[in-house]
Amino acid sequence: MKYLLLLALAGIAACASAFGAVPKTVVIDAGHGGHDRGGTPGNYACEKTLALDVAQRLCAILQQNDVKTVMTRCDDTFIPLGERVSIANAHRDALFVSIHFNSAVRRGADGFETYYFNGKAAGVAARVQANLTALHSGENRGVKRRPYYVLRKTRIPAILAECGFLTNREDAARCNQPAYRQKLAQAIASAVLKG
Ligand SMILES: [Zn+2]
Repeated sequence: MKYLLLLALAGIAACASAFGAVPKTVVIDAGHGGHDRGGTPGNYACEKTLALDVAQRLCAILQQNDVKTVMTRCDDTFIPLGERVSIANAHRDALFVSIHFNSAVRRGADGFETYYFNGKAAGVAARVQANLTALHSGENRGVKRRPYYVLRKTRIPAILAECGFLTNREDAARCNQPAYRQKLAQAIASAVLKG
């Protein structure tokens, strides 16, 4: 009888995981690195450095909440996109979260965008976007479905968060503050931890 009960509970756990429980593993992808600085020469801050910092903060928060984490890069190294995807695809019951910052020719462009491609990631993308846009009054540029390489080639649900415009003076000034980057990481983490 006890054995049957255990089997039933195991079945419930398996279903919960299939329908979007908190992922066991989060593969955190800090955009760019090494010779690839990200952004444009007109940036007020360096995208690859800020992306790694937010990724590391996100990693720490998720670990504190007993989620296993994998970083595609832990330092200022260039990792080709194919390698990032291979790292993601080595995991099951996992979520891929890519951290980037935006840039635009128009200096006034600001705010957040969150991307996904596989519909399985639409829910978490919407939660990330909602949490990020709650941080300040910048433009909510929305959740967008785009076939970006790391979103299209990953077999696990995958999202890419653009955490602010480094070509916008106010956005960049905020993003340069460690306390604000902690808020960015917390906003993303709490969206992921809601399953
Ligand atoms: Zn980028």
